[in-house]
Amino acid sequence: MPDHTTMLINPKNTIEIIKKYEFIFQKKFGQNFLIDSHVVEKIVRSAALTKEDCVLEIGPGIGTMTQYLAEAAKQVIAVEIDKNLIPILSETLKAYDNITIIHEDILKVDIQELVCKYNEGKPMKVVANLPYYITTPIIMNLLEGQMPVSSITVMVQKEVADRMQAGPGTKDYGALSLAVQYYAKPEIIANVPPNCFMPRPKVGSAVICLTRHTICPVKVEEEELLFRIIRASFNQRRKTLVNAVGNTAGIEISKEEIKQILIESGLSATVRGEALTLEEFAELSNRLAAYCKGTN
Ligand code: SAM
Repeated sequence: MPDHTTMLINPKNTIEIIKKYEFIFQKKFGQNFLIDSHVVEKIVRSAALTKEDCVLEIGPGIGTMTQYLAEAAKQVIAVEIDKNLIPILSETLKAYDNITIIHEDILKVDIQELVCKYNEGKPMKVVANLPYYITTPIIMNLLEGQMPVSSITVMVQKEVADRMQAGPGTKDYGALSLAVQYYAKPEIIANVPPNCFMPRPKVGSAVICLTRHTICPVKVEEEELLFRIIRASFNQRRKTLVNAVGNTAGIEISKEEIKQILIESGLSATVRGEALTLEEFAELSNRLAAYCKGTN
């Protein structure tokens, strides 16, 4: 591992850079920079990087974790929205010839194009201390649509990490848990307290690793219908599944028919969505799709 005394992870060096450039932290960009070497080392270790890997880092900040990523991987592509950080990154990362900085909003970047340009079309690994205000859109964007991303190792708000990893029957279980688990296997690696950041966030944080499934764990006839049912179930958490599904746009069948389909799926007619596993949602969605086709 590189010498900490000269690296940005040393809070003294971070403060020096911030002063030198008169950098002002922008709340609107979720700027909380890491200042704890154990945490950064843990993130990089969990991402299991090799010298074959191309890493996409979202929001490099002043380049603290980028330095570690560049040591561990073949190539790092770092996408940063804040124009004030671009000249800072040019200085802090000048010793590395395997880093490309892109000044852009990650939600506007064409990831497919990046992968073709920088990694010969092979999947990248995403590693980041994410801006919390857009965690879910960033993650869902990376998971959906067959994106060429093999794993996502990220710092997120603790509450969001818990929701991504939650199973049926728990208070954190919801549409996000099912959406993430449809595409990937989540594993919380560490809980991280506010004092590991500058400035300190108001919430607790956690590092989560999402490993994309090579084979989807469930077979779904109509993905869009599956997620419509899931969203409806959790939008109206206290309602039974019959009522939630009955109120779902596009499912024009009676509550009695839905009850029958639930029973045929091996579920109780009074079950709530929060009790169903991904497999059970998939089974239900397939049966509903087939039934609706049959009645058309
Ligand atoms: N990686 C740095 C670290 O750990 O010290 C900074 C992490 S900070 C939590 C989030 C970073 O994401 C900031 O640098 C922020 O400017 C950047 N950011 C915020 N919104 C972004 C977006 N839409 N696209 C790209 N970067 C963004």
